[in-house]
Amino acid sequence: MTDFEGLKALVTGGASGIGRATADLLAERGAQVAVLDLDPSAVEKPLLGYRADVTDDASVRQAVASAVADLGGLDILVNNAGIGAQGTVEDNDDEEWHRVWNVNVIGMVRAARAALPQLRESSHAAIVNTCSIAATAGLPQRALYSATKGAVYSLTLAMAADHLREGIRVNCVNPGTADTPWVGRLLDSATDPAAERAALAARQPSGRLVSAAEVAGAIAYLASPLSGATTGTSLAVDGGMQGLRLRPV
Ligand code: NAD
Repeated sequence: MTDFEGLKALVTGGASGIGRATADLLAERGAQVAVLDLDPSAVEKPLLGYRADVTDDASVRQAVASAVADLGGLDILVNNAGIGAQGTVEDNDDEEWHRVWNVNVIGMVRAARAALPQLRESSHAAIVNTCSIAATAGLPQRALYSATKGAVYSLTLAMAADHLREGIRVNCVNPGTADTPWVGRLLDSATDPAAERAALAARQPSGRLVSAAEVAGAIAYLASPLSGATTGTSLAVDGGMQGLRLRPV
């Protein structure tokens, strides 16, 4: 279990859900891991926690600089911080579009900009962006969220091309509906959260939600030297939806 021995990783949005599962997995496998989050108070050793808001360039730069200094370098950036949005184009006003775009898209750009100079120094440099099936599935009631994830997908391809000859690989994962605190919060607002959770699972083509650990496994693979010849790809972690061209029912 030493795939990441000697490697240093930074996970944005790493205090919860997919980001936390990824930080834990990389650390278990031998990496030294820093977590950048709005609220890193629950981040425990051996993880290092840094408070930053991905919508604030100065705070991202400061957190990345502190993490790089404490880790002694950087090999892996997991660009994962993201927020949800529901509704059609008529339901979200300009302010909401700017707010969600600022986190989900420009937030990833800010973290990448801050990390790239260090990643150039690494001989195993990898960036993994957390995208979503929403990027390509045409999900109803998710116009704004889907547009941000479509942008994350395009950004992944463009960055993979830009940094190919620098030895920095850039890939993304496309999770289906994953059982994280985010989804938990949505379910908790229902009158019967347990029934709503069962209904949500039943709507998935596979009959169940994806676990945060399963998404973390895919991120870890794309971050590891085991995928050394893989760049500019998206890896679906969705119980077969994308590959089998299925939709939630
Ligand atoms: P989560 O809410 O459990 O965790 C998100 C983390 O990001 C939190 O710790 C939060 O504090 C942090 N964060 C949010 N805004 C931030 C900001 N401005 N600056 C710094 N940190 C910030 O969510 P999750 O379900 O684990 O989602 C993680 C990623 O996975 C997101 O990019 C999301 O779009 C993507 N995703 C989730 C699902 C799903 O069903 N849960 C499916 C596909 C993709």
